[in-house]
Amino acid sequence: MEKICVAVRVRPAVSQEFSNGTYWKVEDNRISLHKPLGTPVSGASYTFDHVFDETCTNVKVYDLLVKDIVRSAVEGFNGTAFAYGQTSSGKTFTMNGSENDLGIIHLAVKDIFQNIQMQTNREFLVRVSYMEIYNEEIIDLLAPENQKLQIHESLERGIFVSGLREEIVNGAEQLLKLIELGQANQHFGETNMNARSSRSHTIFRMVIESKSKDTISSGEYSSSDAIRVSALNLVDLAGSERIAKTGAGGVRLKEGKHINKSLMILGNVIYKLSDGGKQRGHIPYRDSKLTRILQPALGGNAKTSIICTVAPEEIHVEETKGTLQFASRAK
Ligand code: ADP
Ligand code: MG
Repeated sequence: MEKICVAVRVRPAVSQEFSNGTYWKVEDNRISLHKPLGTPVSGASYTFDHVFDETCTNVKVYDLLVKDIVRSAVEGFNGTAFAYGQTSSGKTFTMNGSENDLGIIHLAVKDIFQNIQMQTNREFLVRVSYMEIYNEEIIDLLAPENQKLQIHESLERGIFVSGLREEIVNGAEQLLKLIELGQANQHFGETNMNARSSRSHTIFRMVIESKSKDTISSGEYSSSDAIRVSALNLVDLAGSERIAKTGAGGVRLKEGKHINKSLMILGNVIYKLSDGGKQRGHIPYRDSKLTRILQPALGGNAKTSIICTVAPEEIHVEETKGTLQFASRAK
């Protein structure tokens, strides 16, 4: 079992207002809460594989947490990178990036095609899909008319989402256009900034298939390594904030329950896969759509990174602690 790599990323403060309250301090791979005069708050210090302060770029996050997963994916191993955290902590900034700081998805796409070009002895086929899980329903972001898609399992295909569009892509440019389409579809119908995208999980997936060119030319199946298929998943999770704080009823409450339940199940799955969950036992992949879809790319020889994003402001201290506790369980 591959070790799960866990990092925390603190985004820049939204306002420059002077705050004389408690604050988070980042030193090396540790983040700890301090009182106004600089005394550490006991029981609020956490260490991870990496802790990034507000000066960190997406490229650095990519290099330390995702690059290796991408390289392995091209070599035939499944991998998943998650962004976890409360709404407005920087998950989408990390995954999708901004104009001046390309996100993980963009960097991964470029890197995959570069890696593929270097492997001159193999022939590659790359397929892409982009989906959203909202209220435990799967929506196709490349073809939004495809809704309420079902998960199936077959001997030939393993676990798959039936009816999900999979586009074959030949290069980074074409793929980046598709991503734009998917992101436009996601924002369609969104009424305010906090709406849907903070309540849904999005999974960007690349399936990489390769064949040895020797096999192709000689026409014989020379080794078990002749054909490789792997999936790379880049996941922007729903906001991890507690529903109590949202204080909403009706639809919002229903959404909140689904989000909390699926994030909780994800936490349990990851905990069981991590060092902490020594007494392995049953891994509850089937308890949520998210973990079911990601099952083949979590555990075993799949590589996993979790980027936990947090807000530095004092008003978010409790949510930040919640995120750091989630991150600690995943180690
Ligand atoms: P989330 O997806 O977790 O809800 P966002 O990624 O949308 O949060 O981030 C909220 C706001 O903070 C956005 O305006 C985003 O551009 C900004 N932001 C987040 N992280 C960073 C960062 N590391 N550097 C600069 N701006 C950031
Ligand atoms: Mg977001």
